[in-house]
Amino acid sequence: MRNQPTLTEQILDQLRTAVLNGELKPGIRYSASGLAKQFGVSRTPVREALLELERSGMARIEKNLGVTVVANSLEEIVNCYQLRLLLEVPATARAAQIADDRAIAQIEAKFADMQGAADRDDVETLLRADRDFHSELLAVAQNPRLVTVLEGLRNLVLTTGIATVPRSRSCQELVEDHRDILEAVQGRSPQRAAAAMRRHVHNTATLIIRREAAQRLEHETPGVGTTSPNAAEFEARLFSFEFGDGRSPTPGEAAGSSP
Ligand SMILES: [Zn+2]
Repeated sequence: MRNQPTLTEQILDQLRTAVLNGELKPGIRYSASGLAKQFGVSRTPVREALLELERSGMARIEKNLGVTVVANSLEEIVNCYQLRLLLEVPATARAAQIADDRAIAQIEAKFADMQGAADRDDVETLLRADRDFHSELLAVAQNPRLVTVLEGLRNLVLTTGIATVPRSRSCQELVEDHRDILEAVQGRSPQRAAAAMRRHVHNTATLIIRREAAQRLEHETPGVGTTSPNAAEFEARLFSFEFGDGRSPTPGEAAGSSP
């Protein structure tokens, strides 16, 4: 436990736990006063905790109506990353295959935006530039619906407040994680680009899964019958759609050759 948490922090912990263990369900509207009653405290710390929860993206507050939880379970997070791997890896290969000079210049510009934001330690801009880098790259694959689907998946994960910077890795590390992708596209190498994207998405997913699993563990009461989320199990599931046997494909296989 941290030392001397304030009442608001305690309530926030309780709220988080309630979200994580399903006592508070996404999509249902709760009132601050109802929650205050439930926790046996006044409304002020509950309101403050809810605001914090909203800032972290786990809740949505509607004035005079109440608060709705928008939690993503670890399960959902893994599902999102499974989808990203399924779609984004071959799409990146395709992009590297057909990118023309103009497209590459645009992808380079997004990378430069990321670098600039990282140099300024501007996390918000960095995360936006990261998203734009992916969108710009995927747009090259000439399937606008794919871009929309992937943007939706990314937004879902971003709104849960589980971005990896700055808590799990530095801004510069995040930028570096994209350099291989950029270089492979510049070199017009579909296989390298696919492998680099696969590594990047996997890397991000692993950081998030480990941290989220640890966080959930922290909120568990130690003792009888705990069902601690096992990070390794969730990590293994990231690739469960690939060949059905959990085997990691070689970069060449990841690039794919189907039409
Ligand atoms: Zn990225």
